[in-house]
Parts: sequence; structure tokens; C-alpha cells
Amino acid sequence: MKDNTNHHELIPRGELEEILRVLEEENPMSATETKHGNSYHYGTSEDTPVSKERLLAAIKGAEIEDIYVHSPFCVARCHYCTYPIAVGQGQDKVLKFLDELAGEIQEALDFFGYSDLKSIHVGGGTPNYLELQELERFSKLIAQGFPLQNLRQMDIEVSPVNLDEEKIALLAGFGFNRISMGIQTFDDGINQRNGRFNQSAEQVIGLVEVLKRYFPNISVDLLAGQEGQSLHDLSDDFRKALDLDVNSIYLYQVRQAFRHGGLDEVEALNHFLSYFSQNGYEILSHNQVIKKRNSDGYCQQREGRAKLENLLGIGPAANSEMQGYIFTNVPPAEYLRSGKGINAQTIKMKQKRNQKALYLLRALRYFTRPDVDGLLVGDYQGKFGTHPYDDFKGKIDFMGKAGLLIMNDGKIEVTSKGMLFTQWIDNYLTRHYK
Ligand code: SF4
Repeated sequence: MKDNTNHHELIPRGELEEILRVLEEENPMSATETKHGNSYHYGTSEDTPVSKERLLAAIKGAEIEDIYVHSPFCVARCHYCTYPIAVGQGQDKVLKFLDELAGEIQEALDFFGYSDLKSIHVGGGTPNYLELQELERFSKLIAQGFPLQNLRQMDIEVSPVNLDEEKIALLAGFGFNRISMGIQTFDDGINQRNGRFNQSAEQVIGLVEVLKRYFPNISVDLLAGQEGQSLHDLSDDFRKALDLDVNSIYLYQVRQAFRHGGLDEVEALNHFLSYFSQNGYEILSHNQVIKKRNSDGYCQQREGRAKLENLLGIGPAANSEMQGYIFTNVPPAEYLRSGKGINAQTIKMKQKRNQKALYLLRALRYFTRPDVDGLLVGDYQGKFGTHPYDDFKGKIDFMGKAGLLIMNDGKIEVTSKGMLFTQWIDNYLTRHYK
């Protein structure tokens, strides 16, 4: 029987170190690879570069199921931030952004189909960097820019800085029905130390109370691995996040190597999952806990990624993923200077086997069904016409022996231990599957 992932007991450090030793022997990875967040790597060297003409011919008329809109602006760059952003820009750049965005949305509307558009996710950057009137135009472009008859979710990421009740009410008024706030930490000293100025714990707690009056579906993000952050500090953040009583909580990790040591990804996830699963939350992913699985707090965009649905990225540096192709828009500086467009260097066609690996590992990272902590084999067969065990026999056997995966009843699921090593599984499946 599979262990129950909705109750994660803290796993002793010695046991985790032993697993790491076995994994390292099978597939040695540098400290950078294990800690870097390679899981977010969009493509691999084995994907085939293709021309823009070939891409456009292949995707014309594609049915888009998910849209991501990237707003690039932030007040300042937090020290750990690796996102494509534009810092401290004035009104002229914001207007340029909104004009380009309007054009991009119109072009996309003419080029693709939207009969089953399920989700729109707006992120950044900090969308609420925009002043009220700018935010109104931005929201209107999005909410009125697409056929929304089948839309299940329209959500937006916000930061506590530059956010007030007027902006929150405006977003709710435009139909956003899920909001996620990047808190990162409640510790004012750690925020200061990491260049995240102007955000206080008191202000964050007050804003979440306001969010609750307007949004049924609230998620917050915490961040492990910040400079000067100990496990004790992180545990303190867990307690404060629990007190917020929101629908869902994520724990992200700083992407760069943890320069100051002491708190690694596995240890942070071990404590995160155990604390929240023992305090009324269910586990929905290696880094997300939720009040009730697949209800409020659930992110449709993540489900779309797990199913390799067609994703259209709009705005600077936004990623798209459709019909087996991946590509990224031009970066913020170019977008705000010369205008919208696809970055031709990023266009790649994913090999079938690479698509399969991606599908399998996303299923292991984001649980899309209430009762499966990983992959339903039938879903995979429906998508690719083959059995995942035939495609990844050696890898699945090894991970089963290492105690990370379990395969039975037509499912391949991660164990409680396996959830702490999804970074490793990710590298293993996408970079070393030959
Ligand atoms: S608020 Fe978020 S997107 Fe902006 S600089 Fe900080 S981490 Fe990066």
C-alpha cells in the first residue's frame, strides 16, 4: 500500500541523507543542479530549434486552453529574484507596455481559437505596481480581450507593496476569482536583508483580511532559502501563514544555490509538508498545501501545465507551450523599447520522448486528481498511446527501489519521501532519460 501523502510525518535527517547518497550514486548531480531549481528549465538541449515561419505555420489556428499574461514591473529587484522584470519604470514605459499588450491580445485573438479557454493567469513582476487607472486599463484588456464562455479561473499574482482596497476591489470587479499574494516571509529583517523593502508583516496581515472580503480563493507564497533565513525563521513563517487561514499556501525555493547554507530544499519541504498536513491542510503538490484538495485554492493553470494543454504567453518574456512547441516573447527591455514579439532564439520543438518525460514529471509534481498523488496511467496512455512503464522502465524501477515512487492500481505515485526529491526526479527524467 502507498503511504498516505496527506499526512506527512517529519522524516529524520539521517534517512534523507541515505536516500540522497543512493540517488547520487545512480545519477551524480552537482550541488548547483540539485539546488538550482532546474525544474523550471523550459527546454532541454535535446529540443530542436525551429524557425519562426515554421512555428507560425504549425500553430496557426491552435485552440488555446490557458493564457499567461506577464506584467514586468517591480519597485526594486529582490536579491533572490531571477524573473524577467523591469525595475522602477515611469509612466511612459507603463503606457508603452499597455499599448503593446493591447496589440498583442488583438493579434492573438485573430490567430488562435478559444472555444475551450479554461484559465487566464496574470503574473509578473508585480501587476499591482500599476497605478489604479493603469491597472483598470490592464484588467479591462484581459477581461474583455478573450471569449470567456468556458473560463473556469482568472487569477492574478499580487505583492503587498502598492496594494490597497481600491485596487483589490477593482480586480474582483473585473472577474478575477483567485488571487495569490507573494509574502515570501513575515520577517521584516529578512525582507530588508534581501532587498524587499517597504513590506511589513503587519501590512501583509491586514491586506489578507481585505482580500478575504473580495476573493473566495486566496493563496499565499512563502520562500525558503533567503539570505539570513534559518529553519527557525521559516517555521515562524509557517505559524503566521497558518494563522492567515487562507485556502492555499506554497513554499517556493530561492533558485540560486543557497549561498549561506543551513537550509536546503529537502529540509525545507520536509518541515513545510509535515507542519501543514498536521494542521488541517491537505497536500496538493510537493510545495503546495490546500484546505481541501481540488477545491478553492486550486490553480487551474498548474493543472493545464500538468496536462500539457496549449498555453499562450502574452507580454514580455512570457512563455508559450503549444502543439509540442515552446517559445518565449522578447525580454522586458526590448518589449518596452521596440515592441512585442517572439524571441526567435527560443523557439524549439520538443521531442516526443521529452514531452513524455515532462508529462510524467509534472504529474508527479502537481496532483490534478483528488485521489492520485501522481500519474493515472490511463491519462498517459490516452495522451501518447504508450504505457509509461514501457517508456521509462529503468527509471521507474530505480525510483521505486529508492522509495520515491510506487506503481500499482494503474497509478504511478510519489511517496511522502519522493515528494521531497521532485527536483532530483525532474533532472533525472528530463536530462538523463537515455
Ligand atoms: S517582487 Fe517578485 S518579481 Fe518583483 S523583484 Fe521581488 S521576487 Fe522579483
